[in-house]
Order: sequence, then C-alpha cells, then structure tokens
Amino acid sequence: MLIRDFRQGRCLMARLDHGADIISQITDLAKEKEIKTCFLSAVGALSRAELGYYDQVSQKYGKIQIDEPVELVTCLGNVSLRDGQPFVHVHAALSDREGRIYGGHLNSGTVFAAELYMQELLGLNLERVPDSITGLNLWSEE
Ligand code: ZN
Repeated sequence: MLIRDFRQGRCLMARLDHGADIISQITDLAKEKEIKTCFLSAVGALSRAELGYYDQVSQKYGKIQIDEPVELVTCLGNVSLRDGQPFVHVHAALSDREGRIYGGHLNSGTVFAAELYMQELLGLNLERVPDSITGLNLWSEE
C-alpha cells in the first residue's frame, strides 16, 4: 500500500462552461490554478458522455458511448501528476430519463450544466507511472 500524508490547500467551487468537455475543463482549471493534487466531486447534467470499463484480463479499456442527455448524479475523482502535468481521474454515475444508471471511468462528457468542487492537497508530488501488474498508470513511491 502506498500512503501519502497531505494537508489541505485551497477549496474551489466552479460552475463549468456549457458545451465544453468536463475532463478538459477540470484539467485546464488545475493547470491555471497550479493544482498538482486534489480530491474532486461534481454534480450536474451532461448532453452526452463516454464512459470506460477496464477489462482486467485483456488490460484494455472498453468504451460505453452515451449519446443522450443524462444527469451527472455523481462524479468523484482526483488530480495527480502524469509526466509532470495535472492528470484528471474521475468516475461517474449518470442517469437517463428513466432513472437508469450508467457508471464507470469518465472518459469525456459535454457539460450541459455542472458544479465542481476541488479540494487542493498540499505535500509531496503524487506521480502516475505505468504499473506492470495492472497495465494502468498508478501512483508511484517516488
Ligand atoms: Zn478510472
């Protein structure tokens, strides 16, 4: 297990831009505010989205396209560093007009309206590196 102690930095609340990609906006905000590590959550609605499902045997991501408006029921994740740049990792639960939930790794999503909370974490850099066991980019000891 890798454990890092952090202290709390800034708390940001942001209204995301209509029509823009949620992941790009979070990435851009982290860069603009020079946030290297944070916990984040968001709620709102997306006009379309793409979720990912990681197949642990083939170690490849499958894509789940959602080409209809959905509620962003919840979106949780973090920002850490990958190749020295802020990297957003979020998972989301999305609901359709019947209340059915789609869930997974959020690859992209066009914002209809969304509210973001970011809790900056201050301490040593948390950097993602390729992990040979999982095939994922995981936080490293360094
Ligand atoms: Zn993920």
